[in-house]
Amino acid sequence: MDPWPIGVFASVDAGLGVAWDVIAELSVPTIQLHAPHPEKRNQASAEDFNAQLHQMGVKCTAVFGGFEGESYADIPTVVRTVGLVPPETRQSRLAEMRQISDFAKCLGCDTVALHLGFVPHDTAAKDYAPIVDVTRQLCDHCESNGQFLHLETGQETADGLLQFIDQVDRANLKINFDPANMILYGTGDPIEALQKVGQHVRSVHCKDGTWSDKPGETWGAEVPLGQGDVGMENYLRTLHQIGYTGPLTIEREIPQDPDRQRAEIGQAIELLKRLRSEILG
Ligand code: MG
Repeated sequence: MDPWPIGVFASVDAGLGVAWDVIAELSVPTIQLHAPHPEKRNQASAEDFNAQLHQMGVKCTAVFGGFEGESYADIPTVVRTVGLVPPETRQSRLAEMRQISDFAKCLGCDTVALHLGFVPHDTAAKDYAPIVDVTRQLCDHCESNGQFLHLETGQETADGLLQFIDQVDRANLKINFDPANMILYGTGDPIEALQKVGQHVRSVHCKDGTWSDKPGETWGAEVPLGQGDVGMENYLRTLHQIGYTGPLTIEREIPQDPDRQRAEIGQAIELLKRLRSEILG
């Protein structure tokens, strides 16, 4: 595949993402897929997906896990509900992530990804070791399926993320870099963060946002690509600098309104294509 194929974050039956028929119309060569509901994570439905993707000429580059009970309503709610961090649901969600990894394998996809949740910043915190441990278990399961596990960025600083990756100590643990999340969560300047963690980045989101007036306490706002504080040209130039050649996956967290998706994502695709030809020539 040529460097920087355009992609979109897609959802078939769960979560936010571009609707299936819009993907076909936008004719993008890649998608990242939000994992379907549990009853569809099986060989037969993977074969159906594969047939559809093949027909559309689309390659699935990552499968994202997500869980019942997660809420992104505000930052404290994210801390309490998202990913493998909340202790009450950790084991059942680990089991689900293993199932999602197996489903991704049926799709022929070598990458599984998720929001791990708010990892404590202090390695001596009581929850830190169990979170490292559950991440190792998931990495090892993905490894047995020949896959990488990508952590979505945003909820920790670049330094916190590097420290966590170092502690987990698994070669297949990588990063899905989302520059807007750094801004929305107020965890740091995305370009500086990308330069720091660049060696671990194996997939990215192209998403934009504006800073909150109380970073880290309240959300910033997600906005159409090119209209926020990320600085898309600088972002892509930095990706080029760190040697990233993988897909540019547009993520736009708006409800599944096909007309709005067509318009906004269509514009995002044009922006990325223009910058790609300027930067890569
Ligand atoms: Mg993202």
